[in-house]
Amino acid sequence: MTVSVVNPATEETIATLESAGVDDADAAVAQAKAAFPAWRAVSPADRGRLLRRLATLVEEHHEELSRIESANAGKPIAGARGEVGMVADVFHFYAGAVDKRHGETIPVAGGIDMTFREPLGVVGLIVPWNFPLNIASWKLGPALACGNTVVLKPAELTPLSALRLAELALDAGIPEGVVNVIVGKGSVVGQRLVEHPDVAKIGFTGSTEVGRGVMEGAAATIKRVTLELGGKSANIVFADADLERAASAAPYAVFDNAGQDCCARSRILVQRGVYDRFAELLIEATRNVRVGDPSDDATEMGPLISSAHRETVRSFVETTPLFEGDAPDGKGFWFPCTIVEATPDDRIAREEVFGPVAALIPFDDEADAIRIANDSPYGLSGSIWTQNGARALRVARALETGVLSINSNSSVRVSTPFGGFKQSGFGRELGMHGLEGYSEVKNVYYSTEG
Ligand code: NDP
Repeated sequence: MTVSVVNPATEETIATLESAGVDDADAAVAQAKAAFPAWRAVSPADRGRLLRRLATLVEEHHEELSRIESANAGKPIAGARGEVGMVADVFHFYAGAVDKRHGETIPVAGGIDMTFREPLGVVGLIVPWNFPLNIASWKLGPALACGNTVVLKPAELTPLSALRLAELALDAGIPEGVVNVIVGKGSVVGQRLVEHPDVAKIGFTGSTEVGRGVMEGAAATIKRVTLELGGKSANIVFADADLERAASAAPYAVFDNAGQDCCARSRILVQRGVYDRFAELLIEATRNVRVGDPSDDATEMGPLISSAHRETVRSFVETTPLFEGDAPDGKGFWFPCTIVEATPDDRIAREEVFGPVAALIPFDDEADAIRIANDSPYGLSGSIWTQNGARALRVARALETGVLSINSNSSVRVSTPFGGFKQSGFGRELGMHGLEGYSEVKNVYYSTEG
């Protein structure tokens, strides 16, 4: 069995790889298991040095990795460069963090009580196709820093950057067997990692549906899981907001990465008094989004990942859109920026599209905005636009979502926690919180009597 890796902008096959099966998954787990004792014994400072070297190698191969990611995922090259820059920063962060996670001593009678943070062992990392290398690094950084060995399963659609990163990890001096990459179907090798008795934890990013299956599969061996799932985030614009700023930023909060972003603010909630004016400004700003050849430095939006995914996205546009932008004809899985007026009950306002389609929804007042925003099984991200600071904080506290931005649509940073509420998953990635998911607290009591 082989995997054909396709460039979504040209539909050309850019690589053909062997597709791994259950035996290959088992072999990768066995390799990771064999490498674990030596890797956990490397001192934290030395693990930090190796991660720092990996970060530096990612920087030195920045353009190469960006080109791989752009060709494989159809990402505009400028966006791919930003993502690869973040990958290096993530490894730098965890290189610095690794020896700053301390245990505790706890006052108890008759002796000394102390805690240690132990690695889990072999961890399985299952990542999607939308930000292949970036999301892999969010898991690899803390997993390796904590002393775990890993089996990384990229999405079959986008395996190339993970394979190159594994080579760079070896070049950095990270011992063989510590980072293993397998390319194969999620339902085969992903599922095997979930069920494998020697895998201690699964770090998963993907759909809520598959995430549910991962959680079920993990139950048999009481595996730890971190689930980073879907979203239907709200971008809430109050009448007192700087409308020009909010409207010029809004398209990039939903059309970036062609909308294939779990944080996409794909529900744009606008207070009624300014709804018409905001809609005009939003259309104007969306008209300016440059859609086209991902290898062009000026391009802001590329194609969707696959033909099948384009059909799914298309199925969400059930009414005449308020606005539809331009997109190239011919080869490539293109889809235009699309804005649809909706009510909170419409399918487009409730389900994750994972494509460049925004639902524009009016609201009456603060309570109404909170009610609509929270009326979703998801709770990943969101934005609040207002010049009233008290309102901004009130609404931020009331929203059932894991990451928020106020007067901005940017809420993902290397040093700050990222993750969802409700069916968007649980566990936190990035920042010091990211380390929590890759170690176990051990408590030791030492009697000083006798
Ligand atoms: P999936 O959840 O199907 O895939 C995510 C990862 O899980 C991939 O590596 C996939 O492998 C793997 N996988 C699939 N089935 C299993 C399984 N049974 N056990 C273990 N691993 C498995 O997402 P898709 O990529 O198909 O995207 C579908 C939808 O999911 C999107 O339209 C979007 O709504 C949502 N999504 C959300 C993401 C987010 O960041 N929150 C990211 C990606 C998707 P493979 O693909 O190789 O078979």
